[in-house]
Amino acid sequence: MAPIDGTFDYDLAVIGGGSGGLACAKEAVNHGARVAVLDYVTPSPQGTKWGLGGTCVNVGCIPKKLMHQAALLGESIHEAVSYGWQIPDLDSIKINWANLTESVQNHIKSVNWVTRVDLRDKKIEYINGLGEFKDPHTIVATLKNGSKKELTAKHVVLAVGGRPNYPDIPGAIEYCISSDDIFSLGHPPGKTLVVGAGYIGLECAGFLNSLGFPATVLVRSVPLRGFDQQMASMITNEMEQRGVNFEHKTIPLSIEKLESGKLKARWLNTQTQEQKEDVFDTVLMATGRYALTKALNLDVAGVKCLSETGKVIADTEQTNVAHIYAVGDVLEGRPELTPVAIHAGRLLARRIFADSPHQMDYENVATTVFTPLEYGCVGLSEEAAIQRFGTENIEVYHQFYKPTEFFIPQRNIRNCYLKAVAMRAAPQKVLGLHFVGPVAGEVIQGFAAAIKCGLTMEHLMNTVGIHPTVAEEFTRLNITKRSGKDPNPASCCS
Ligand code: FAD
Ligand code: NAP
Repeated sequence: MAPIDGTFDYDLAVIGGGSGGLACAKEAVNHGARVAVLDYVTPSPQGTKWGLGGTCVNVGCIPKKLMHQAALLGESIHEAVSYGWQIPDLDSIKINWANLTESVQNHIKSVNWVTRVDLRDKKIEYINGLGEFKDPHTIVATLKNGSKKELTAKHVVLAVGGRPNYPDIPGAIEYCISSDDIFSLGHPPGKTLVVGAGYIGLECAGFLNSLGFPATVLVRSVPLRGFDQQMASMITNEMEQRGVNFEHKTIPLSIEKLESGKLKARWLNTQTQEQKEDVFDTVLMATGRYALTKALNLDVAGVKCLSETGKVIADTEQTNVAHIYAVGDVLEGRPELTPVAIHAGRLLARRIFADSPHQMDYENVATTVFTPLEYGCVGLSEEAAIQRFGTENIEVYHQFYKPTEFFIPQRNIRNCYLKAVAMRAAPQKVLGLHFVGPVAGEVIQGFAAAIKCGLTMEHLMNTVGIHPTVAEEFTRLNITKRSGKDPNPASCCS
């Protein structure tokens, strides 16, 4: 263990009490460190604030998954009739937005509370203040009432995460909301324009549409840029078939508030140069996120960050200043995902305070996009594998499939599809797995562990499936794209 140094108030100060910062702080106290965590939430342009715990708990994964679940339940109510449930007046069933947001916010508040208690129990000092450097070892926290609290620490971890970008167009900041606001919005969103077709744009458009709020998505380049594009098109096809309107190759031009209170949005098709406009109740900006490093006064600490995104470059989580580290969304070039921040934070604390040699492995991190039909993946996309190894060296196994639960009632199965991207040469090491269908996250998580263990196509084909599940489809893959054979399933049990 590193020596506890009495010349500093703390062995570790963590700036940012979100997924990465809290994980790092808790692990550090397990190894005897004296730890302080600073966390402060600056209100969104629309004035939304929240408590301790960071993005995931308050305005990210958790409320998003709950709203996704609310949307799935709405579908289930309608499907239940085909299974014999007697539901009177099915057509009048609709979501009560106020009840939904209340339930979601109550859950979040309980997590905020449990997190505070946990920090107190672990004797981690929680400072509800906006932190900035005074010098490389001294941090000043500005508290809610404006007073200042100064502390020194031997090691500092930057875990400040990020916040939504707003495009530089008239009306964006004044009238639009972001993911910071949607989960606690005080009124039903109504007809919504979602700008951006990344994770957040597609997920929000997906659950809003399924909850009964018509959604239009402005797509600047392609949906889910960087993901396997065949899979991305499956989930956007599915969304379109459910009624989401996609405006491809478009950028927003302006948002204007009408006397009625509604918002008139104008956008440009960058291919045809055609301009379009429509009136919406809500415009949600989902145009990426920037890192919250501006307020940190990094210059006085000597820490370098990128001017455009505010992100910190730190290959092994150590910045260019030896005792200052960074974890989570603040890091340049790392997946912006909660489990990534948590894992990196824990490993970092073990390296600093328990002489652990273990570094974070950012390769083969699994992820899921929680669109109405979910998309889970791990490893390389088909495009990335071809780019890295060449078409001739890659084998892609693929299959459409019919989830058993989609037979009653007959549901759209056109987009239930999966593929394995593998090396062509034996033993056909698996480079990437991609799955569009129900519970994709649950399906892909176990296969991610298999990939970590060096999964090959032979392993996969020799794995006996669990029937009838959707995950078993990976064990049934045997058609290669190269063969040109029909990847449609013959029957459920063939
Ligand atoms: P954060 O959790 O953002 O925590 C940083 C904290 O530091 C915040 O509380 C911030 O206010 C505070 N802070 C910032 N500056 C200062 C300062 N100067 N002083 C004190 N405090 C400060 N990931 C998934 O894995 N799965 C998902 O399904 C998923 N869904 C998402 C949905 C949405 C809508 C969004 C926005 C994100 C989602 N993510 C998801 C991403 C995930 O939330 C982030 O990757 C994760 O929260 C990053 O953790 P972090 O510790 O880096 O930062
Ligand atoms: P993102 O995935 O980077 O997507 C941003 C989208 O906005 C892209 O479609 C981008 O288009 C578009 N865009 C950017 N600037 C624009 C502009 N000025 N005008 C029009 N369109 C613009 O970012 P995100 O959706 O905000 O998500 C941020 C991160 O949060 C993700 O990377 C992810 O790691 C994390 N997250 C994870 C989950 C999950 O695990 N399920 C869910 C939500 C968020 P281009 O492609 O053309 O640039």
